[in-house]
Amino acid sequence: MLVTCPHCPRSPVYWSQTCYRHIPDDEKAKWREDVIGDVYYFGGVNVPFTECDFSGMDFKKANLSRSRLERTLLDGAKLSETVFIEADLTECSAKGADARKANWSECKLDGADLSGANLERANLEGSDMKKAVCTRIDGRSTLFHGIVAQGTSFAGANLADAIFSQADLSGCDFSGANVARADFSGANLAGANFKGAQGIPLVITDDETISRDVLENG
Ligand SMILES: [Zn+2]
Repeated sequence: MLVTCPHCPRSPVYWSQTCYRHIPDDEKAKWREDVIGDVYYFGGVNVPFTECDFSGMDFKKANLSRSRLERTLLDGAKLSETVFIEADLTECSAKGADARKANWSECKLDGADLSGANLERANLEGSDMKKAVCTRIDGRSTLFHGIVAQGTSFAGANLADAIFSQADLSGCDFSGANVARADFSGANLAGANFKGAQGIPLVITDDETISRDVLENG
């Protein structure tokens, strides 16, 4: 049986009979407080948080693996060292979030807006992040091994020492990014834009044409 919110076709969120939108406004603050408490007390694995507003909240070191966070707002949230393995973050917004050393491997991040987020030393290995917005992220030493990121923008990002090995980066925008010592070995860079990128990558790609473009623009 498919359970929906009594007021709309959305699914109910955690410990509620309604979707987030239909939690009464004067109860939302308490609901968010309870969520934080429960996530740390019981753990947050496989929890429905679709379309919730968690902007600016502190989830440091929380485990929300396999949880549903589609279209959830995490702008400015404290997400460092969080474990979101296999979480669904499709079209979420985590602008300016602090996600240093987070483990977001095998996540769904298609269409997510991570602009200006701090992902230094985070692990996004194997995540789907097509058409995501990663402009101006701090991606130093971040692990992007095997990501599927067609059409994603890394414009102006700091990607020094980042690892993009075996990633699908076709059509990605790396304009103005710092790619010093970044590892692009085995990555698909067809149609990627490195205009104004800075720094010499450690390994670019087996494709000589793209290698030369990157070096000439860098
Ligand atoms: Zn509803």
